[in-house]
Amino acid sequence: MNTLRIKNAARRALSVFLLGCLLLSACARTPPAPIDVAENTILPTAEQPAGSEMEHISLVEPNQTYTYEMLVADADELAAAYPGLIEVTSAGQSVEGRALTLLKLGRGDVKVLLLGAHHAREYITSAFLMETADEYARAYVRGDGQGGANLLDSVTLYILPMVNPDGVNLVQNGPDAAADPERVKGMRMLKETYAEWKANINGVDLNRQYPCHWEEKASNTDVPSSEMYKGTAPATEPEVQAVMRLCEENAFALAASFHTKGEVVYWADSGTEDAIEAAAPIAQSISEVTGYALMEVSGDPAVYGAGFENWFRQEYLKPGFCIELTPVGNGSLPHDDARFDELVWSRAGGLASVLMRQALDVEEK
Ligand SMILES: [Zn+2]
Repeated sequence: MNTLRIKNAARRALSVFLLGCLLLSACARTPPAPIDVAENTILPTAEQPAGSEMEHISLVEPNQTYTYEMLVADADELAAAYPGLIEVTSAGQSVEGRALTLLKLGRGDVKVLLLGAHHAREYITSAFLMETADEYARAYVRGDGQGGANLLDSVTLYILPMVNPDGVNLVQNGPDAAADPERVKGMRMLKETYAEWKANINGVDLNRQYPCHWEEKASNTDVPSSEMYKGTAPATEPEVQAVMRLCEENAFALAASFHTKGEVVYWADSGTEDAIEAAAPIAQSISEVTGYALMEVSGDPAVYGAGFENWFRQEYLKPGFCIELTPVGNGSLPHDDARFDELVWSRAGGLASVLMRQALDVEEK
């Protein structure tokens, strides 16, 4: 998995684009700190060719069924490969006791939160965020040699790629892989297969769990289910509690939560629209870079209530986005993972740059 690989030409071209984005200077705002090339240079290892022209190897392989175990291994390798740039910790534990792996990428004071896989079958968002960490770290190191200011000098990305690892495990490996298979098999199925599961392993939909208009949130199921069940109260699930704690401990300038199927951006709701003026221009920037459509302002708490981004906006009055990567297709089943580049990266590869630049603007105002 982590041997030196040659990626395709499209990926390389996009990496050049990313580097260009990253090098868009933050120096109009703050003078860049002097760049310590020695500190930022990664020493060649046995796997890496030595020499000034060496390209840092790509560690994350997103064009496959991306598992929790891959994520944990890749996160550790990234932390080892980019000391001082990437730090890996845990934001908490899932119901089944999996560590909620958190990557901190960057050296800046401005913090941006990126979340993936609230919904189990949408685990390609985890691959997206891990590929983002990998490619942006590589671009950062390559950029140092050119002496450019870099967004990651001003911003730190807090990346929680897989909010719902137990659910992802169920989707990828079936109910017998759960800690308590019989309990899972006793839950209500709103789709035919476990590969279509959205909820956590308690049968609670984690994006219907946040304490924001939770009581008003409509639901068509009132028992633990494969999707849609909002639970007996807000924030009962440890995965949601971990995300909320992370937000309480860090003053994020903005947050984005990634889902799949739609290629759209949810950027405002009627409860907070007037209080978060920065959201509209940021949403516009996201749309321009990705081509994703902007949704109307969400108007009905029965529909938008209890989502992460809605809670984040209400609680902190900062921009919060729900971004639906990937085109519609394959019904409710996960996408063909081998098509990651085409379905995800070709449009969303530059997203983190946009979010970082916009976060700097938010903090300036
Ligand atoms: Zn979703």
